Amino acid sequence: MIQKGNFLLLDIVELRSWLQKQKITRSIDRLQVHHTASPNYATRQLLNGIAKQDIWKCLEGMRTYHLSQGWSGTGQNITVTESGQIAISLDRDLNKTPAGIAGSNTGAICIEIIGNFDKGGDTMTDNQKQSVIHLYACLAEKLNLSINTDTVVYHAWYTPKTGTRLSDFIPGKSSKTCPGTNFWGDGNSIAAANRNFIPQIKAELDRLRNNIPNATPVPITKPKDDEPMTEAEKLQVATLEKTIQQQADWIKAEKLKANMECPTWAQEAYKYYKDYISDTTGSYDFWRQLVINYRKDNNIKVSK
Ligand SMILES: [Zn+2]
Repeated sequence: MIQKGNFLLLDIVELRSWLQKQKITRSIDRLQVHHTASPNYATRQLLNGIAKQDIWKCLEGMRTYHLSQGWSGTGQNITVTESGQIAISLDRDLNKTPAGIAGSNTGAICIEIIGNFDKGGDTMTDNQKQSVIHLYACLAEKLNLSINTDTVVYHAWYTPKTGTRLSDFIPGKSSKTCPGTNFWGDGNSIAAANRNFIPQIKAELDRLRNNIPNATPVPITKPKDDEPMTEAEKLQVATLEKTIQQQADWIKAEKLKANMECPTWAQEAYKYYKDYISDTTGSYDFWRQLVINYRKDNNIKVSK
């Protein structure tokens, strides 16, 4: 958790406990969904998921732009970065009404997802996806909101100026395409939201409520220079390979109890071991153990 300038930057693992400690003094019943359009992955100078542009520069840049529009502060309460970090606007804390959808901001939290998710735009990184889902689930938990298209709302479902709610995204009537005509790889319609985005938030909230462990995203690290491996490193790799083989054997045995599709919380682990898994179903215990193995292999410690 780092505070600098006008923002507080949290890692995904810090969010839930931070949020639980916040005192909410206004009534909130809607969580807006926006993409920033600009900044986007190009202006962030993204290469292999790593942005070259400084994140603070990006955040302060948005604030400066909003101030230049005569706004009292950063428009949004919360920003999700392409790496999955979550920035809280200190000049638009959760108790301040945001400037997100003209005419429909009272009772809402404005969340901006960095990127341009219109067709032909950016493809959201896995880390950002995971953080977005986790953020909406944690907010729903904190604010005691049921999760549906009346509580999780796309900017595209409102008219300009008056902020009248429409029945759907209607080109020509909607104020914007935001959060993008290819948001979540599916679109910005109500049907698209109900197909993927909404159920994934619900699943994440269930996971949180039932205390099911999650595969924490692996921190993005810059690739090392090409140095030859030392004897110790060679031994480490050999040991790791042996461990992976043993786990692969165990996975094969567990597969005999197969019965469910890979849940969202096990997807990182599944990706890691997928070359050792012949299909995409397994028992609940199988997925759970897979996540634990994945953490051991990657030395990911769970914060308690
Ligand atoms: Zn928007």
